[in-house]
Amino acid sequence: MIGIVAVSHSAGLAEAARELALQMVPGDGAPLRVAAGAGTDADGRPILGTDAVLVAAAIDELAARCDGVLVLMDLGSAVMSAELALELRSSDVPVRLVPAPFVEGMLAAAVSASAGAPLEAVAAEAEAALQAKAAHLGEDIAAASGSAGASIAAPAGPETVRVVRVRNALGIHARPAALIAEAAGSADVRLRRLPAGPEAGAASLSRLLALGARAGDEVQVRGSGAGADAAVERIAALFADGFGEEIAAGAGGEGSGTRARPGPDRDVTRARQIPASAAPIDDADAGESPAPDDGAALPPGTVLRGRGVSPGVAAAPVAHPSPAIAEPEPADPLLAAEREAEAARIAPAAAAVAAGFAARAEAASGETRAILDATRLLAADPDLVADAAARVRTEGLSAARAVWEAASAQAEALVGLGGRTAERAADVRDIRNRIVAVLHGREPASVPEREAPFVLVATDLAPSDTAALAGSACAALVTEQGGPTSHTAIIARALGLPAVVAAPGAAGIPDGTLVLVDGETGTVTMDPAEDELAAARAAADARAFDGDGRLADGTPLPLLTNVGGPADAVQAAGAAAQGIGLFRTEFCFLDRAAAPTVEEQTIAYRGVLTPFAGRKVVVRTLDAGSDKPLPFATPEHEENPALGLRGLRVSWRNPALLHDQLRALALAAAEEQAHVEVMAPMVATIEEARDFTAAARAAGLERVGVMIETPAAALMAEELLEVVDFVSIGTNDLAQYAMAADRQHPALGALNDPWQPAVLRLIATIGSAGQTAGAPVGVCGEAGGDPRLAPVLVGLGATSLSMTPRALGRVARALAAVTAEQCRAAADAALEAATAADARAAASAVLR
Ligand code: PEP
Ligand code: MG
Repeated sequence: MIGIVAVSHSAGLAEAARELALQMVPGDGAPLRVAAGAGTDADGRPILGTDAVLVAAAIDELAARCDGVLVLMDLGSAVMSAELALELRSSDVPVRLVPAPFVEGMLAAAVSASAGAPLEAVAAEAEAALQAKAAHLGEDIAAASGSAGASIAAPAGPETVRVVRVRNALGIHARPAALIAEAAGSADVRLRRLPAGPEAGAASLSRLLALGARAGDEVQVRGSGAGADAAVERIAALFADGFGEEIAAGAGGEGSGTRARPGPDRDVTRARQIPASAAPIDDADAGESPAPDDGAALPPGTVLRGRGVSPGVAAAPVAHPSPAIAEPEPADPLLAAEREAEAARIAPAAAAVAAGFAARAEAASGETRAILDATRLLAADPDLVADAAARVRTEGLSAARAVWEAASAQAEALVGLGGRTAERAADVRDIRNRIVAVLHGREPASVPEREAPFVLVATDLAPSDTAALAGSACAALVTEQGGPTSHTAIIARALGLPAVVAAPGAAGIPDGTLVLVDGETGTVTMDPAEDELAAARAAADARAFDGDGRLADGTPLPLLTNVGGPADAVQAAGAAAQGIGLFRTEFCFLDRAAAPTVEEQTIAYRGVLTPFAGRKVVVRTLDAGSDKPLPFATPEHEENPALGLRGLRVSWRNPALLHDQLRALALAAAEEQAHVEVMAPMVATIEEARDFTAAARAAGLERVGVMIETPAAALMAEELLEVVDFVSIGTNDLAQYAMAADRQHPALGALNDPWQPAVLRLIATIGSAGQTAGAPVGVCGEAGGDPRLAPVLVGLGATSLSMTPRALGRVARALAAVTAEQCRAAADAALEAATAADARAAASAVLR
């Protein structure tokens, strides 16, 4: 018998539909489970939403007694949760997600399943469930069940259908979407992410983005009418070519056949927004607090933290873009006789905005030009115009209000998809504001034009704003929103401007405030002191490292580097790093919806090992969770993700993930000349260390260690070193857990300080355990790259330090100036201090 899972945002809706369906079938009916809602709030009221873990549990429960499971979903994120559940489930019974109507499909599926039909037949029944209603109403079923967008018409006449695969690593982002739109020309072509993803007209950039199509996904391209054959072929060729972009490892070739049926084991295409990670700063003495949102001045020295997305340091007064277009007020509905003329104003306004972008693109080059071109297509999006015009006609909204609502809905849909797609929401809002400005006969908001250098600070910047900065006096960018792949970040890097995004409170910094922006550490310091400015300038001036870390007395102190993937490794090797002390493997797969295959992983790891032939590379197994959620590994809803199933604990739920990773690493190590060591993140017990060591050795990896990031592990360092070959101290997390202070919390920077005596004493415990065991003790948290702390860490027992490549020269210089004995004396002095400030002062008094 086939089981059915009903996935809905509302438990009430799903239960009622279930009741209805079960009334239609005799006897015990069909096994039908509801996976609906997202729990209850503090008052016990149900929260609307869907939960992939619930869906996976329902599938697993049915799998124990069914030959297959059919999953029906209501809307939006229900589809994504169902897709994600395919990854989370532990059973391997065939599962089909069907794009069937929720209520009618459930009835049809229940009847079919209770009659003992096989999975394909039950799925077909569910998918055809609207036919009866459509026939009754005399409608064509294609039109009745049709498209995601009101303005996407059903195809007319014979169709050309191709199934293609997304091969480029970044999936359908703005540039590929623009290429598709151009290739479609005027032909009626639509794309659908298979098996049950949304559909988009090829001319609608925003809907193409909202497909959420990632590398490896299959997409159906359908065209009908004049020119469709050629347009579909052009689009298929673009997919086959990966849109001229980097091809994702293992993304495969073009799919074949027509109207491919969805398979049960396809990749999940869900992506999540990766939260901005807190970046450390050198001087944690500075007070930290979010900026007020009333534009009041912040105390000098206040540090805001965000995400550094374009390196470099700059100090200049803040300037804000001119005020944004305000949301048009909803007014009384227009009279019916006025609506047509009002609706007709929208298309010319959109065309004027598109023409403005075309002119800017013409004047730009490279990446900036491509981005402006893509934005032009967003402005010319026929779906946006049609949707807004429909709102005028049916609801009597003003043209401006209708555009605002239509574009905001598009932007929200993009945000809901998370990841890179969410970052395109800023582009849609920019278009919205510009069209509304044209409708109001106003100039859109723009970046300031100044002679003297300034730091542009905004809630978010549109590509057009950022592109306009070329050749201006702008010295750096800071935004409150945005991510590393937002257009702000891309253009900032292209223009060589230091940039920090996702800095909470930044938009509230008053105009004219002198700020110091560090695009590497992601910090923005208000009214920095003169010595901070000087230190920042010195730090920015990257010093060369000669590849030989040593103390003044000749004691070798290897200086290693932290990397997140092959590109970092190449850069680190160029900076003469003596090895890699921390390879954050999860960084290779942050955007992946499905777990990478062993082959994909092997390729990525080899990319890091190759530049370090003959040198040590310490590879950390996936540290998924908390500030680095991986869609394929991290539980969906955790009350306290930092204290949840993160790091090594992910393998408790999914041992295959660790197993595959170790296998891939062993394969990569066997092919390369680097000396590979492996370590596990977030270890708290000896049993974990034992199991990990056994698993790594069984995979063929000889040197095995653990990170010490929890106070538990620090206190058990001696016992841990009886089990593993080495330890590496993750000072970022060790401080977070020792001080009970979220490392991303902008107000807790003073607690997240490795100079805190409690943290120093934990490090001392680890150092002395290392000395007793004669085992290496590395430091790979950000503290390792702090030239003032480095001698103290060595005095506490660190035998190597690992850091960003830019810090190598500075740390090498600091260590070359001190002897081992001085390091120990500085450490002893710091250990005796009662406060972080005293510890700093005590250490610098010794090292002066
Ligand atoms: C740390 O916690 O110090 C560490 C190096 O790991 P991550 O920053 O990747 O959590
Ligand atoms: Mg850590």
